[in-house]
Amino acid sequence: MKKILANDGIAEDGKRMLEQAGFEVSTSKIPQEHLKDHINEYDVLIVRSATKVNRDVMENSKRMQLVVRAGVGVDNIDIAYAKEKEIEVANTPQSSSLSVAELVFSHLFSMSRFLHLSNRQMPQNGKEKFNELKKKYSDGVELRGKTLGVIGFGRIGQETAKIAVGLGMKIMAHDPFMTQAKLRFDHLPFTPTPTLEIKMHPFEEVIANADFISLHVPFKEGMAPMVNDDTFAKMKNGAGIVNCARGGVIDEEALIRALDSGKIAFAGLDVFESEPKVREALLNHDKISVSPHIGASTREGQDRISLEVAQVIIDKVKNN
Ligand code: NAD
Repeated sequence: MKKILANDGIAEDGKRMLEQAGFEVSTSKIPQEHLKDHINEYDVLIVRSATKVNRDVMENSKRMQLVVRAGVGVDNIDIAYAKEKEIEVANTPQSSSLSVAELVFSHLFSMSRFLHLSNRQMPQNGKEKFNELKKKYSDGVELRGKTLGVIGFGRIGQETAKIAVGLGMKIMAHDPFMTQAKLRFDHLPFTPTPTLEIKMHPFEEVIANADFISLHVPFKEGMAPMVNDDTFAKMKNGAGIVNCARGGVIDEEALIRALDSGKIAFAGLDVFESEPKVREALLNHDKISVSPHIGASTREGQDRISLEVAQVIIDKVKNN
């Protein structure tokens, strides 16, 4: 019987599907520093973003056939070394898009009405300073009619755009690998399925015209941040930015400068340059709504991911 280690856990649906297919699935968390000592007990390793599947982990592996990243980015796996060791690497790119897109709007709604701040202030000061806080947070903005700049128009970018269209926002998208894309609103109860053509624009045009920018591009270790001092300088005054992609996509020092100078009004961050250690200045900043890399972490998203993981393993690993 082939053995699977789901080191960062796996939702019950996927675990059941694997067990029904005859695999043995362990969900005990092996600490990073001990993983290399146990790697030869398993044929398949499932990870989310916490476990790093680096050279050290794979070096002594003789048995491991497949590493599956339950999620999108495979930046926590040393792909080149896995190839050298003849370990196949797979991910589950389909399942989390909607969850991430909804988190983008959690940040947008929160920031546009200062909810992130009033949730920090009300428990401590709401009793004594209700009217003061009411005045302070009474200058919010509506999203309808505003322009959302979507940078990276793949799976998550398109889901984000679909929600934005539903809210009555205008979309300006940039993706160097396409000229246009067709959004299909197949979650709506209409026949035929409504569709909308979205034309791509140059990056500079999007950042100069968007009221809010949402980033959905891939990122690899060593890449320069796509959003830096120069990018912030070219944005609309008072714009907002959300990063639910990867930490390195925004230069965090440049972001703090842009927020402190008032050039941009707020930011929503789910991901950080040096996770899990996050700059104090970001965590405590009044103009930043923060979440601890939970984009894909909804019950529905994790259920879908676990089934996609199980299918990948069943397709790729002969269990005999
Ligand atoms: P995807 O591959 O479907 O889409 C990425 C898009 O970015 C592609 O269409 C690609 O053409 C485009 N792109 C590449 N380089 C670009 C550039 N320089 N400028 C503009 N566009 C560019 O990927 P996805 O599933 O939509 O994921 C997008 C990002 O979201 C990834 O970084 C992924 O790691 C991240 N993500 C985060 C979470 C989270 O928990 N916060 C969860 C899942 C995915």
